[in-house]
Parts: sequence; structure tokens; C-alpha cells
Amino acid sequence: MKDCLFCQIAGDKSKLVWENAIAAAFPDINPKAPVHVLLVPKKHIESLDHLEDPTLGGQLLEAVAACARSLGIGGGYRVQINVGRTGGQIIDHLHIHIMGGQRFRD
Ligand code: 5GP
Ligand code: ZN
Repeated sequence: MKDCLFCQIAGDKSKLVWENAIAAAFPDINPKAPVHVLLVPKKHIESLDHLEDPTLGGQLLEAVAACARSLGIGGGYRVQINVGRTGGQIIDHLHIHIMGGQRFRD
């Protein structure tokens, strides 16, 4: 989608730290952990509530694990999806936060 920030970033290979056929990952601009990337479907999907394809849902989770491994945090990381304004979502393109490189205690 032309006006979507995360569609634009996902389409710019120079900004990506990992990608496969269906997903792309790039560093969060305001990292909350030593490693903090956002993994997005390459197809524009507004939020988890708009994900209608369970196959794609599974592929995205598989992509999260593959991305984490490739970033060197496989085996210990945190995954977060914010849904809607109430859930803290500020960018309306489904994104999965992958955070690692530290021990989480809360
Ligand atoms: P949300 O609150 O929607 O789940 O998370 C949006 C995330 O996008 C935030 O963690 C924020 O730091 C990140 N973000 C916002 N604008 C940009 C940007 O222009 N580039 C990148 N890489 N991350 C962004
Ligand atoms: Zn988008």
C-alpha cells in the first residue's frame, strides 16, 4: 500500500535485516532491547484482527523463529503483537516485535 510506512520499509531491501518470500524484518527505530526488530508480512494487512489466512499466520510464526535464529537470539527472545489503538498499535500494518539480547524479568 503506497501510503503505508511499513509497506515502504518492507519494499526497501537496504533497510531489512532478514526476509523470506512472505515476510521482512527491520530494526525498530526506538529499540526496547539490545535486539529489537519488527517482522511484517510483505502483503499489507492492517492488524492481527485482519489476518484471514491461517496458513500465512503459521508462516509468520515460522518466520519469527527463523529471523530470531539468524539474528543470533534463537532460544531466548520475546515476541509481542499490539492490536488496535487499545492494544498499543500505532502503525496500521501488522507487525511482530521480536526482542532479545537481554534477560526479561517481567
Ligand atoms: P506498535 O506500537 O504499533 O506495536 O509499534 C510500532 C513500532 O514501530 C514502535 O516500536 C516504533 O518504535 C516503531 N516505529 C515507528 N516509526 C518507525 C519508523 O519510521 N521506522 C522504524 N524502523 N520503526 C518505527
Ligand atoms: Zn502496509
